[in-house]
Amino acid sequence: MGQVMSDYISEAENALLHTYNRYQIVLDRGEGVYLYDLEGKKYLDFVAGIAVFALGYSNEEYKTAVKEQVDKLMHTSNYYYNVPAIEAAKRIKKMSGMDRVFFTNSGAEAIEGAIKTARKYAFLKDGRTDHEIIAMNHSFHGRTMGALSVTGNPHYRDAFEPGIGNIRFADYNDFESVERCVNEKTCAILMETVQGEGGLTPANEDFLRKVRALCDEKDILLILDEIQCGMGRTGYDFAWQKYGVKPDVMTSAKALGCGVPVGAFMMTEKVGSHSLVAGDHGTTYGGNPLACTAVNKVLEIFEREDISGHVREVAPYLWEKLDELMKKHPAIKEHRGAGLMQGLVFDTPVAPVINKALDKGLILINAGANILRFVPPLVIGKEHIDEMVSILDGCIEDV
Ligand SMILES: *Cc1c(COP(=O)(O)O)cnc(C)c1O
Repeated sequence: MGQVMSDYISEAENALLHTYNRYQIVLDRGEGVYLYDLEGKKYLDFVAGIAVFALGYSNEEYKTAVKEQVDKLMHTSNYYYNVPAIEAAKRIKKMSGMDRVFFTNSGAEAIEGAIKTARKYAFLKDGRTDHEIIAMNHSFHGRTMGALSVTGNPHYRDAFEPGIGNIRFADYNDFESVERCVNEKTCAILMETVQGEGGLTPANEDFLRKVRALCDEKDILLILDEIQCGMGRTGYDFAWQKYGVKPDVMTSAKALGCGVPVGAFMMTEKVGSHSLVAGDHGTTYGGNPLACTAVNKVLEIFEREDISGHVREVAPYLWEKLDELMKKHPAIKEHRGAGLMQGLVFDTPVAPVINKALDKGLILINAGANILRFVPPLVIGKEHIDEMVSILDGCIEDV
């Protein structure tokens, strides 16, 4: 045995910037829906690297594709074409019904691109340089300055003001509050189709339809952030497909690369042909052959194995089991979410439950202090849900 976990943890605390309160384990490898720490302890994973590892860990087909691309060519820059990016863009177009794709390195970077797209679209119409974006309270869109500026959580924003400016916040699922924010400067309305970080709240269908109609009426762009709720998470390739409300611009990341850092923003032809042009936007790494090989393979597996269909099959079972748990434990006040993106709202902070679960070999995460979030790999089976619920039941009992 080399160093033990506690040595690594103290080294980490000496070397890494203290921007996370990390759980006291060092993860080493993964297999299916299980993770192993450095000391060989096995954990059932209901976090999936925060809704990233949709296909579970160590998928042979995915690993082989990525390894072969490492041997071939990892990077080209965007001044040249590469086949994996072309193939991945074609697949994204087919899956999303969007017409134009821009690859990024992260979710936040996809949001930045979506914001620039909206501003440029509006600028080309009226030449103004004071356009406004309406975002939602309790939203989360990332940590870079633009993405932070549209994140509806003052706790994340306050110390970093001023943000990019000209942002108005409306209440999610409250159409009148959105209407009140609209004026002649509004260029976009941005929201998650299902709020993740902010508490696992799905958009109401009526709300989303009314926002879509308002955007159509005033030629405002509807931007849907599908970074967490997209890619099969809710049982649809993208969550908006359930509502039949198509955005003008959308963002993806997290499960898009299943572990390789990659994101994308996509748009309809109407927006694509009246917004960003050569010289307006770029990225060195974005869309490189390595990342796009991962995307291409993920999308191929999604389609062939109907991952979204599998989610529609197992998610109701998770719903039923979490409902039972809520009935049993009075500390649980509410159960919400969509597909394999569910949350249990407790009347106290959930950190002790998460720590207890970790002791017992179950990885869970919160969304805000009081909400336990369930975003497992999409390939989980009912047996894994049973295993999770039985461990969690005991943890709630103990705490
Ligand atoms: C995680 C997340 C982001 C930010 O993505 P990063 O890759 O962490 O930059 C943006 N929007 C939503 C909805 C997210 O869940």
